Amino acid sequence: MDLDKCTGCGVCVKVCPVSIYELKNGKTNVKPGAEDDCIQCHACEVNCPVKAITIG
Ligand code: SF4
Ligand code: SF4
Repeated sequence: MDLDKCTGCGVCVKVCPVSIYELKNGKTNVKPGAEDDCIQCHACEVNCPVKAITIG
C-alpha cells in the first residue's frame, strides 16, 4: 500500500468483496483486524486508478 499515491477515491472500498477497506482522513485504510479476511482476489489492486495497492 502506497498511501502517498492514494487519492481517497473509494474504489477499493467499493470493490473489495469482503469489505476490508474504509476511508479515513481522505485515504484508504484497512479496517482494524480485517487483513486476515482478504481472499487475494486482486480486485482492489486491479481497480485502483493510481496503482496504490499491491497484494502480496
Ligand atoms: S482505489 Fe486506490 S486511490 Fe482509490 S481509495 Fe483505494 S487505494 Fe486510494
Ligand atoms: S485482494 Fe483482498 S483486499 Fe483486495 S479486493 Fe480482494 S479481498 Fe479485498
